[in-house]
Amino acid sequence: MEIRSVDRSQVALLGMTRDELRKLSTALGEKPYRGDQIADWLYAKKAGSIDEMANLPREFRKKMSEQYEAGLKAPVSVAESADGTNKYLYGGPSGGAGGALRGSAAERPRYVEAAFIPEARRATLCLSTQIGCGRGCLFCMTGRQGLHGNLTAGEILNQFAALPERDMVTNVVLMGMGEPLDNVDAVLRSLSILTSDRGFGFGCRRVTVSTVGVLPGLERLLRGSSCRIAISLHSPFDEQRASLMPVQRVCPIAEVVELIRHAGLGKYRRVSFEYIVFRGLNHSRAHVNEIARLLGGIRCRINLIRFHRLPDVPFEAADPADMEEFRSALEAKGIPTTIRLSRGEDVQAACGLLSTKELW
Ligand code: SF4
Repeated sequence: MEIRSVDRSQVALLGMTRDELRKLSTALGEKPYRGDQIADWLYAKKAGSIDEMANLPREFRKKMSEQYEAGLKAPVSVAESADGTNKYLYGGPSGGAGGALRGSAAERPRYVEAAFIPEARRATLCLSTQIGCGRGCLFCMTGRQGLHGNLTAGEILNQFAALPERDMVTNVVLMGMGEPLDNVDAVLRSLSILTSDRGFGFGCRRVTVSTVGVLPGLERLLRGSSCRIAISLHSPFDEQRASLMPVQRVCPIAEVVELIRHAGLGKYRRVSFEYIVFRGLNHSRAHVNEIARLLGGIRCRINLIRFHRLPDVPFEAADPADMEEFRSALEAKGIPTTIRLSRGEDVQAACGLLSTKELW
């Protein structure tokens, strides 16, 4: 794969669906099946330039290159954790590409981070969907950055397509910078290409979208994709959750859970609830009882996450023994519960630590 630098006046092919590539071929005077060949080059054969698409007629490639480019962009740097996690930085000068906010924000660099997390039997890639985030969760570095733009589907998919360890990735989570359902059009398009046979070919069970529970976007996600869903819970009590996550005031967790409850999820479509455990704050017996009441009747699991300290945030991580006790109490209520291992903390790649603010 040869990765060319990008002329931002050209439109990226990466991020286009098979149908769009077929239409593009027809518009440029070729048969629709040429679009299938382009999709094959982009998503299966890792083409970094239109020139590499050797089974397309030379004239067609030349004509296509006048308006389009493959869209693959190598990461600009990597930070390697002692535990094997690699945090990649993608992006660069804005140039006002599609999805950037208007005004001065459009001139800012479009840097985002992605984390590759190898484990014994799987390797997960954590992708970003926005530059920063507008949801302002108290425990999250990305939230402190504020929102500075949505990524296009091509920019989301490029974090996988140009990843050096691409062939090792078994699972993809949209859990990096940004709230995916605040960029739902690009996210649905990305999921469609990630899971299509004419795209990257991941099974829906290997792709998870993580959200704080943005209701309109969640409805569209439930209708438009079969990928797995992870909901950030962090407290079952309204006021406490609102103090941690402002989204609670506009999208109450009770309404999110009701939507999930009545969504008619199939046998294989798993929903998980993510729960950061803060010392002395959200792991009491009352929390266990209220979580059990809230989630009663839903096939789900809870993932407990250790809090990673942030400057000026008055929380501490819970002790491992307290996390284990909380896990056991939830299991005793019939909720499968796992304590997630923390990965990549030494390179700020762990949950809640991604940020590119210092690059502006
Ligand atoms: S936790 Fe997610 S939704 Fe909340 S501020 Fe961070 S990136 Fe945004």
